[in-house]
Amino acid sequence: MPKKLVFATQNKHKIIEVTDVITKRLYESGNNATQWEILSLSDLGGLYDIPETALSLEGNALLKAMYVVDRFGFDCFADDTGLEIDALDGRPGIYSARYAGENKNFEDNINKVLKELRGIENRKARFRTVVALVIKNHVHYFEGIMNGQIIHSKRGSGGFGYDSVFLPECYDRTFAEMTLDEKNQVSHRAIAINRLCDFLNDYRAG
Ligand code: IMP
Repeated sequence: MPKKLVFATQNKHKIIEVTDVITKRLYESGNNATQWEILSLSDLGGLYDIPETALSLEGNALLKAMYVVDRFGFDCFADDTGLEIDALDGRPGIYSARYAGENKNFEDNINKVLKELRGIENRKARFRTVVALVIKNHVHYFEGIMNGQIIHSKRGSGGFGYDSVFLPECYDRTFAEMTLDEKNQVSHRAIAINRLCDFLNDYRAG
């Protein structure tokens, strides 16, 4: 019987990205192919407003995972991601989702970042993802970082969030100009999820 593991997110873009990585790593590799069955929040009956009130990516990822563990008793993982811009002292960071205000959208957040960077030459930034896995009441963290820079105006229509203004290091296309497969070859989230998969592939307890 495969072990059930919930991915605690409401974000459909994350579900698509993470499912793509996990499917390739856990199911197609033949390694422990049947050991894990990944469930989403919709498999648990719907949408949940999971609070993100911690002051670090680690803290928020753990809050999201523990929400599911406490209510449903499943082992669970969740990710929290922040865009850290050097010239803005690491902002928006943990406030990436609501940088322009509580009821604002991706577009508003990007516009705020571009406005704050107007006239600034240092455009260095990084996406940092932390995945918290809670399994058999033990917590494990997996991190993924992608360095790059914030360009001056949006390019591309793929992806989500700040993808259209983030040019990953050594690439001439933004994340929003990449296919899902291309973004998943290099992205912060894919790095963290691949580390999670390494762990799960080796996991033997129970
Ligand atoms: P979350 O708290 O992990 O859901 O992410 C916070 C915010 O960071 C999201 O609402 C997006 O605006 C942004 N974000 C997270 N991951 C990505 C990504 O892979 N590309 C672009 N923006 C992202």
